[in-house]
Amino acid sequence: MSNQRQDNTLFGLSEPEIVEAVKTAGFDLARFRAKQIYQALYAKRVHSFNEMTSLPKQLREELDDVFPIPRLKIILESVSADGTIKYLFELADGRSIESVLIPSEMRDNEGESKRKTLCLSTQVGCPLDCKFCATASMKLKRNLTTAEIVAQFFEVERASGEKITNVVYMGMGEPMLNYENVITSLKIFTDPSLEILGNKRFTVSTSGLPDEIIRFAKEGLGVKLALSLHATTDELRSKLMPINRRYNLSEVLSAMEEYYRQTHIPVTYEYILFQGLNDTAADAKRLAKITRRMPSKVNVIPFHPIDFTHPADLGAELHPTDEKEFQEFIEMLRSEGAQVMIRSSSGVDIEAACGQLALSNEPHTHEITLS
Ligand code: SAH
Repeated sequence: MSNQRQDNTLFGLSEPEIVEAVKTAGFDLARFRAKQIYQALYAKRVHSFNEMTSLPKQLREELDDVFPIPRLKIILESVSADGTIKYLFELADGRSIESVLIPSEMRDNEGESKRKTLCLSTQVGCPLDCKFCATASMKLKRNLTTAEIVAQFFEVERASGEKITNVVYMGMGEPMLNYENVITSLKIFTDPSLEILGNKRFTVSTSGLPDEIIRFAKEGLGVKLALSLHATTDELRSKLMPINRRYNLSEVLSAMEEYYRQTHIPVTYEYILFQGLNDTAADAKRLAKITRRMPSKVNVIPFHPIDFTHPADLGAELHPTDEKEFQEFIEMLRSEGAQVMIRSSSGVDIEAACGQLALSNEPHTHEITLS
């Protein structure tokens, strides 16, 4: 898929791209002006060049004419009982995406953390058809532009008034299938000169595309990588995640190993527990063995039931593992030496939890506040 880009804006461009675009549009600007524009867009988060008082007035007006700064329109804001906020954005072409701001995403043995984690979308829909994921029902509509990825951060920051502390690329879509735009967005977010957030605060989650994972390892971004594992055998993983028929566990885990070799950043495995499918003692043993291959941790995730699983493909309906068995599974993993985190079900009541983002299945009858 081609990288769509709104061609009349500088927002979403890297610094060298801004230099280029400004020159192409016929502006004869000194190099430091491009740097000022880059800083204004992403560090100061201006909405128009008119706010850039460091620029001569006439230049500001010309830039605003030629390069309008687009905004994402918030059309719905849903607040969960646990403080999770889901934002529904309307894009310039009328399509919509969701981003979720989650207070303290993780619970660990030491108790609650003070994080505000933003869950970003990278595609409108997703082509991968994972059987447990609501976004799959939308199929892929298109990739998001870099501008649309970056703008989710700034718009949520502004609308919520919160200081975002962590960002996970775990909303709608498969980040590795929108590779270039995801990389450019990460380069902007983690550029130390912009002072947005440190690179360790970013996690990209993938269903497991080995070539892209290896390429990602070489980007030198210093961000964390998470693999949606969800099964420890190819037989089950292929049923849950059809992408596993193309790239099996052994190929995907080798690619994760390469990520660790290149970056020395421990990897994360995400593992949703499905009653009777992947939650046995044998699964816990195999999962722990996988985690011992390299420094890593496992996020065990309660399954958030969605309306439309595909029992025909699986031979069974998907159900969440009971609380008691869930805890037993965690204990087994820990006793096998795995480092385990439990993903909370933040936002479940507003269908903002992992894998619940699917616009075609709106409307739901939860409470909404129009912004
Ligand atoms: N495509 C990427 C990122 C989006 S999914 C990926 O596959 O990792 C983000 C996380 O939500 C993944 O770990 C995914 O497996 C999980 N998820 C999807 N549907 C879910 C559901 N119904 N309940 C709980 N977690 C789910």
